[in-house]
Amino acid sequence: MSTAATLCAPPAILRERGQHEVFCGLTGIIWLHRKIQDAFFLVVGSRTCAHLIQSAAGVMIFAEPRFATAIIGERDLAGLADVNDELDRVVGRLLERRPDIRLLFLVGSCPSEVIKLDLGRAAERLSKSFAPKVRVLNYSGSGIETTFTQGEDACLAALVPELPAAPESAGPALLVAGALADVVEDQLARLFSDLGVGPVRFLPARRADDLPPVGPDTRVLLAQPFLAETARALEQRGAQILTAPFPLGVEGTTRWLEAAAEAFGRPASLVQTVTEPARQRAARALGRYRELLAGKRVFLFPDSQLEPPLARFLARELDMQLIEVGTPYLHKQHLAAELALLPAGTRIAEGQHVENQLDRCRVAKPDLVVCGLGLANPLEAEGLTTKWSIELLFTPIQGYEQAADLAELFARPLIRRTRLVA
Ligand code: SF4
Repeated sequence: MSTAATLCAPPAILRERGQHEVFCGLTGIIWLHRKIQDAFFLVVGSRTCAHLIQSAAGVMIFAEPRFATAIIGERDLAGLADVNDELDRVVGRLLERRPDIRLLFLVGSCPSEVIKLDLGRAAERLSKSFAPKVRVLNYSGSGIETTFTQGEDACLAALVPELPAAPESAGPALLVAGALADVVEDQLARLFSDLGVGPVRFLPARRADDLPPVGPDTRVLLAQPFLAETARALEQRGAQILTAPFPLGVEGTTRWLEAAAEAFGRPASLVQTVTEPARQRAARALGRYRELLAGKRVFLFPDSQLEPPLARFLARELDMQLIEVGTPYLHKQHLAAELALLPAGTRIAEGQHVENQLDRCRVAKPDLVVCGLGLANPLEAEGLTTKWSIELLFTPIQGYEQAADLAELFARPLIRRTRLVA
């Protein structure tokens, strides 16, 4: 771990507003439909929405996909047809054909928002029709003024009112919020068990009828930094959010576990003992990547909201130099522990004015740019090396066993560029 990083000076925050280059919240369906195994995501949108979902998720379609788009046609947009009647028909047909669906999300889009389609009422109506077998919920994945990870936040926030109340006498319980790959979830569950922290539940659960209970004794650890709405909804149910860095890299994972241990009265020394073998393994695996990445200058465009924890990992565990850390939103409370760990004077840019940011990036000539797909190709054409930030959501990156995989995601584009040049 780096000793060079200087701590404690507050980071400089540049707030910008202007054109931004991000995917919309529909993108979250791509990883959420794999996580909740009996859920179906029905986008109520346009052909553009259908194309986005099809092309982004096309490679992952199973025999029976668990997402689709109900296309709002021109007649609907012109008010010539009753969209609600058509939606009821589509849902009826879908549920008849797919008896395995237990949870149906109606996912709003830019077009459904523009025509002010009340998907909340539609979900209520359809839930009544198909209860108790199928629960119908709704959330917005629209790209109007949002960023792509907010789709997951909206989806999980929609689930919170459905969570059963935790019995008062049950004592403290831990709820880990944020979709994690099953393999990561299993590893973390084992660590919590070794630490004597529990009972532990995860949101979202793998099955729709296995919703975790919530109440005043629930302590919530966020596994992702983009869950502002979900956290607010859990707090409204009485849960307490624990402040911690996010479980990226060795340091982030250890401190995240320490926050849980502290909340359950377990000493930090126990975390050190229990995690020793995993920390050693991860540190050894990271060494290889540090050799390659140390001293390299990285510029992160705002995209996933994972940027501050990633920057902390890149600076402190791989000795990279941070030029700018962009993030679409900065939740000061949820990110407090991360901001405190960033090197002194790190420039954080909240929001986006893409032209200004591109200018700063070009002047800085970083060794690596972390950005969305829309910016990656033009920047590559200009000779810069890029990493697509969306990959960080599709790849298991949390926890000790994945720390080196996370480092590799940043090393790979640099290795590829070296090969191209050689
Ligand atoms: S929700 Fe909006 S931004 Fe997303 S694909 Fe549909 S129209 Fe485009």
